[in-house]
Amino acid sequence: MQKVALSILAHPDDAEFLLAGTLIRLKREHGYEVHIASMTPGDCGSVEQDGQTISEIRRREGAAAAALIGATYHCLEERDLLVVYGEAPLEKVTRLIRETRASILFTHSPSDYMLDHEQTSTITRAAAFAAPIPNFLAARKLGAPLGHIPHLYYCDPLEGKDPLGRDIPPAFCVDISAVIDVKADMLAAHASQRDWLMKHHGMDQYLEAMRSWGQERAKGRGVAFAEGFRQHLGHSYPQDNLLGDLLGTV
Ligand SMILES: [Zn+2]
Repeated sequence: MQKVALSILAHPDDAEFLLAGTLIRLKREHGYEVHIASMTPGDCGSVEQDGQTISEIRRREGAAAAALIGATYHCLEERDLLVVYGEAPLEKVTRLIRETRASILFTHSPSDYMLDHEQTSTITRAAAFAAPIPNFLAARKLGAPLGHIPHLYYCDPLEGKDPLGRDIPPAFCVDISAVIDVKADMLAAHASQRDWLMKHHGMDQYLEAMRSWGQERAKGRGVAFAEGFRQHLGHSYPQDNLLGDLLGTV
């Protein structure tokens, strides 16, 4: 099996909040090739710059963050608040899964605080299912079908809550204590977002929020920092916990 991990999240800095520690460990400990994709370039992520300007900045930041760990950044060029399950995004994500030959896929929780995240989750779930199906949009040359559906994992929703405020506990957590500083360096590469928050909150809220969430997830698990996941276990998706077997669970 190809050792390729692909994260498909909505916005350019989502990976650095939700699962970068796990990606770093897959790369360093098991030699996985790592790809980090965002559905949008984060075009609404500024009150000072227009959409095109901030998009250019944030694509560069996403690429720089990924480069810190030798990963590759991809922007799928949907737009903020307009990520909607449908033919075009499904085609893009299926193509990316086939091009990268991903064997482990990550996406957002099906229930999350905003719809771009939930729709990205739905699109990625569907694309994982489509990736091995030769007749899916065959005329558009999406690449050679995969041999089977990749392992699919959902990250924690923001603050571990669904939109009604109910807790969504992870099925398992990965210990990221040893790589938390690298994860913070990756997040810091998203300087436009960090500066914006620093200006408005007067403190380094951006990195602090990531660290304190990692500590929160680690509580009671005997480690300092953790990331939480649930595996998609619907019919025909892989049932064994490849990620947990590789990195151990806490
Ligand atoms: Zn997001």
